[in-house]
Amino acid sequence: MPWRAGFYEEINMTDYQGPSLELRARVALEKHRFHNTHSLGQNFILSESLLSGLLDETAVGPADNVLEIGPGPGLMTALLARRAARVLAVEVDRALEPVLAELLADAPNARVVFQDILKADVAQLVGEAFGGEPYRVVANLPYYITADILLRLASCQRPPESISIMVQWEAAERLMSAPGSKQWCALAAELQYYGDARVLAEVPPEAFDPPPHVTSCFMRIDAHAEPIVRPKDPALFRRLIRAAFAMRRKTLANNLKASFGLSQQAARDVLAAAGVDERTRGEALTLEELCRVSDAICMLHT
Ligand code: SAM
Repeated sequence: MPWRAGFYEEINMTDYQGPSLELRARVALEKHRFHNTHSLGQNFILSESLLSGLLDETAVGPADNVLEIGPGPGLMTALLARRAARVLAVEVDRALEPVLAELLADAPNARVVFQDILKADVAQLVGEAFGGEPYRVVANLPYYITADILLRLASCQRPPESISIMVQWEAAERLMSAPGSKQWCALAAELQYYGDARVLAEVPPEAFDPPPHVTSCFMRIDAHAEPIVRPKDPALFRRLIRAAFAMRRKTLANNLKASFGLSQQAARDVLAAAGVDERTRGEALTLEELCRVSDAICMLHT
């Protein structure tokens, strides 16, 4: 650059923040010769402005503890650390360790553990990291583990206050489906028992590096302040939800016989006590009806 009088003085050094996080992430990935692993769903978002926009919608604030699942290179983690009180990030790929160390060098409130979240005891992890304090989850994960991870979080001993997660567009439609519709499924029922789901933003393939073959959306599920149904035995209620959708072609009475080892008469009695027609198919039931059936099964055992 040619010498120009006053150039140095024009730069306000106090405002200079150093290289952007985006640049730091790209340089660190390059420097540590990181290669994305397709089987781990490593489609990263390396745009600071996009991630900031998404995080604006998560309700994460300065008093919050955050469990981030799948931090990747750590750009989202670093941005979260600027907004939240504490961040615990769980990443399965150790090859990302030096990249994360660079991105989080100036984020003392962020900690990374290298573990497969599907093998982790989430209640224990957050218990150790945040004591008994509430926490929120933020995650951009491979789509093949979306259902598994949502079920684990929703039924965890210490469920999060909210889950903000990137999902495939079709999964969002299913999660927000209504009872009786074609898409109503066990995952939707369990998730709606846990909280209120809404889509925050559609995210096109080109927002990711490398781009996936599907359209994604970022959604937030807020735990209900008050349960919308109060089953006597929540574990049995969840078991019933899974059973009701597992054998889609069976009537509910036959389903109960097979899944709970009930006699024909006991299955009929349960449904009569719950006020549900025995010819109904399990997958058509609302959460309220499932709760009544679950409570009636409970009564059999008392
Ligand atoms: N959050 C980063 C972002 O938005 O750029 C990375 C997102 S990338 C879609 C998914 C990340 O989840 C990867 O870093 C991958 O290694 C990690 N991951 C995949 N399976 C995981 C698992 N079972 N437990 C923890 N992390 C996992």
